[in-house]
Amino acid sequence: MPIKVLAPELISKIAAGEVIERPASVVKELTENSLDAGASQISVEAQGGGIRLIGVSDNGAGIPASEVELAFRRYATSKISNISELEKISSLGFRGEALPSIAAVAEVEIFTKSSSEAIGSYMHLRKGDIVRRESGARPEGTTVTVHGLFRYFPARLKFLKSASTENSHIANLLSQYALAFPEVKFSLLLDKHLSLRTTGNGDLRDVVNQIYGLDVAQAMLKVEAMDDLTKVIGLVSPPSLSRSNRNYLSLFVNRRWVRSPLLIRATEEAYHGLLMDGKHPIAIINVSLPTQELDVNVHPTKAQVKFHYEQAVFASVEKAIKGALARTPLARSKAVPFSVSSWQWQSPQMIRDNEPTFIAPLPAVGLPVLRVLGQLASTYIIAEGPEGLYLIDQHAAHERILHDRILAQWAQKEVEVQGLLQPISCELSPAQEETLKANKDILTQFGLTIEPFGHRSYLIRAVPALIMKANIIEAMGMLLDSLAAKDDVAPWEEKIAQSLACHSAIRAGQQLSDEEMRELIRQLEQAQQPRTCPHGRPTMIHLSSHQLEKEFGRIS
Ligand code: ADP
Ligand code: MG
Repeated sequence: MPIKVLAPELISKIAAGEVIERPASVVKELTENSLDAGASQISVEAQGGGIRLIGVSDNGAGIPASEVELAFRRYATSKISNISELEKISSLGFRGEALPSIAAVAEVEIFTKSSSEAIGSYMHLRKGDIVRRESGARPEGTTVTVHGLFRYFPARLKFLKSASTENSHIANLLSQYALAFPEVKFSLLLDKHLSLRTTGNGDLRDVVNQIYGLDVAQAMLKVEAMDDLTKVIGLVSPPSLSRSNRNYLSLFVNRRWVRSPLLIRATEEAYHGLLMDGKHPIAIINVSLPTQELDVNVHPTKAQVKFHYEQAVFASVEKAIKGALARTPLARSKAVPFSVSSWQWQSPQMIRDNEPTFIAPLPAVGLPVLRVLGQLASTYIIAEGPEGLYLIDQHAAHERILHDRILAQWAQKEVEVQGLLQPISCELSPAQEETLKANKDILTQFGLTIEPFGHRSYLIRAVPALIMKANIIEAMGMLLDSLAAKDDVAPWEEKIAQSLACHSAIRAGQQLSDEEMRELIRQLEQAQQPRTCPHGRPTMIHLSSHQLEKEFGRIS
């Protein structure tokens, strides 16, 4: 076949295929137009997965009657007029392709009124041709209704998924725009059911509440950072809150929803060492930068951007999120100074002996988010936080975690019990036997089921799921002895929790994987008193950034 230039209708259909891939693409283009028109209210409706009907209504600037027809012409746009403007696009649309593309694959009605005119105009297009034009009264704004999408494109229809899948794409899309524009009041009706409604009060957290629920909304940390090139704002989840896929990463550039591997990597890098493998954060991040510093004209869907200074943008985003993670409310608690000249590596025993002078008098406050750097002598975890270096005693830290969890489960009457297929037998001293008899019910409350088995022998049939059953005999011995101790005024539940935790906690000298260390630190961060073990000894030594700087002579 010889080379021929394609007929205009064919060109527009090929082009439409790039822009309008599925019903959600129609919703995207129409919503972007409404946002570009400065709307403060956008109502979207879809039926039958968007195939039967899509309607988008806004209270934006509207289109003057004389331009309505033009709006459906290919490459007709009010948003740019010359090549220099292509370099600094601030609107979401600019290619002048959406309306003609939609009209090429569906039946379209538009009813619009601009502020400069007294009356609105209505137009009906079928297969791209105008079949009716009228004028009529309506408030300022635009309503575009799309019927029978892809009706004449069976191949495209076949490629679409079920109506409910298409609906979920639409719902996700509108959620993204709602997150990007908290000051706009969005509503979405899917098959006549209200799927989403935002208040438009400008508060991103409120939008997150509407989309992800109150728990997520309350837990999210505020991101706000500015440098020479970018302004990064949004909300990110604390490390304790994560998801097993990346669908919860909402990334925007100048409020354009983008698919940017660079921004995904920057976001996830900020969580490096804080999340378990396979876990991903929830993040809503908008990166603002001067329009001439990026190219949005990469693809017809405008969902990709190219940054001129990729590394700088990457660094800004990573830093902004790291800053938010470090600024958790607990992290803000003031670090207490201690004399750095006395700071040196010492054995745990020496630490205890030197307690009054050596141990940093750490206050009874929570921990900031810590990043694990490594393990020292198979005994201490080295970590960095916003306020410097932390050296954590793995045994003491784990003891604290187990102790708190054992007590919490007991207090909530939700002790997880592990029945033993092979009961463990133990021999008790007469005193221990008496203590056991006197405290049998109490021990049952903690998940310990112990039965007599002949002369001072006992069978342990069930243990709390939290503890390590390997050391249960030692733990039982300590537990009964401490319950019997008259001079110790600690409440009995405290004694039980301490004994069980002490013998189940990982030991000094045990090598830990990175994952295990991270998990340990993550759990420690959640403890009420992470800085001391249940016996009151410190779980960590903190060397603040200030102390480091002083020690290295960076400051006097
Ligand atoms: P683009 O958005 O790239 O300019 P479109 O085909 O989406 O191209 O729209 C063409 C033009 O129609 C826009 O430039 C704008 O002037 C006008 N327009 C479309 N939708 C609306 C709307 N909801 N409100 C006001 N004007 C609109
Ligand atoms: Mg557009």
